[in-house]
Amino acid sequence: MEFIQTKTILSKVSYGEQWFGVDCNMNLYRGCPHGCIYCDSRSECYVIENYDQPKGKENALAILEQELRKKRSKGVIGLGSMSDTYNPLEKEYEQTRGALKLIRNYGFGTAIDTKSDLILRDIDLLKEIKEQNNVIIKITVTTPHDELAGIIEPHVCVSSRRFETIKELSDNGIFTGILMMPVLPFITDKEEDIRLLVRKAAEHGARFIYTYMSMTLRDRQRDYYYSKLDEYFPGLKEKYQRYYGNRYDCAVPDHERLWKAFIEECERYGILYRMEDIIKGYKENKTPEQYSLF
Ligand code: SF4
Repeated sequence: MEFIQTKTILSKVSYGEQWFGVDCNMNLYRGCPHGCIYCDSRSECYVIENYDQPKGKENALAILEQELRKKRSKGVIGLGSMSDTYNPLEKEYEQTRGALKLIRNYGFGTAIDTKSDLILRDIDLLKEIKEQNNVIIKITVTTPHDELAGIIEPHVCVSSRRFETIKELSDNGIFTGILMMPVLPFITDKEEDIRLLVRKAAEHGARFIYTYMSMTLRDRQRDYYYSKLDEYFPGLKEKYQRYYGNRYDCAVPDHERLWKAFIEECERYGILYRMEDIIKGYKENKTPEQYSLF
């Protein structure tokens, strides 16, 4: 793996109340090898060439420790927004595991987005962090069908393994749920699949599902997605072009009916789906002590 140096690692977020109550974000890798055909991080604005070949941030843990020491309050640190922090390289390099040790040592909380079962390796640390602060794990599942997951998310474990991962995390007392994002028009937007996904989530102990019934498309990310539609779903690119033109936010057709079905299933199984309820759910039993470290 190629390494790069970084000057800073934590970025303060101003939208925490709209996004899982996160206070800061960090990405320990630049780029991601999981190959999701819809990945927004391929967009030009992020200026990441060869996105599928991740680079490690060599000095990330040293910088993280410096930055955590300076923080005055113990917030929740998000991992995995621009790059899945549990990519296969993590098995060897343990950057994420190292970061979780620092998060634990300095008393912060964490919110992790991933599709990978490698997160199970770190259950010990997640439990230790949870003893002193808040932890929420968001496993992305976009379809209940393994074969389809293998096409749209080709280099990471299939959906059934992600459901098992949710179960193991939940069984260990970690507040875990699903990011059902994006929802791909004409591919993952069948009502029966959405109902099935919610049912499987409930069977595997998911506490929440968050979705927005939409996908985003722009510049070279759209080009990549369309090339994959041509490869795996012949004729669908033209349908997208007719339906969405150059639109960025591409809500699924008939999204009101799908929202209704989604909410109906979530309420049937007691799964949280509103952001404010999810944040309250994982923070309700803990108010991290706010104090000055230095
Ligand atoms: S796992 Fe996330 S960051 Fe990685 S390719 Fe897929 S969508 Fe992009």
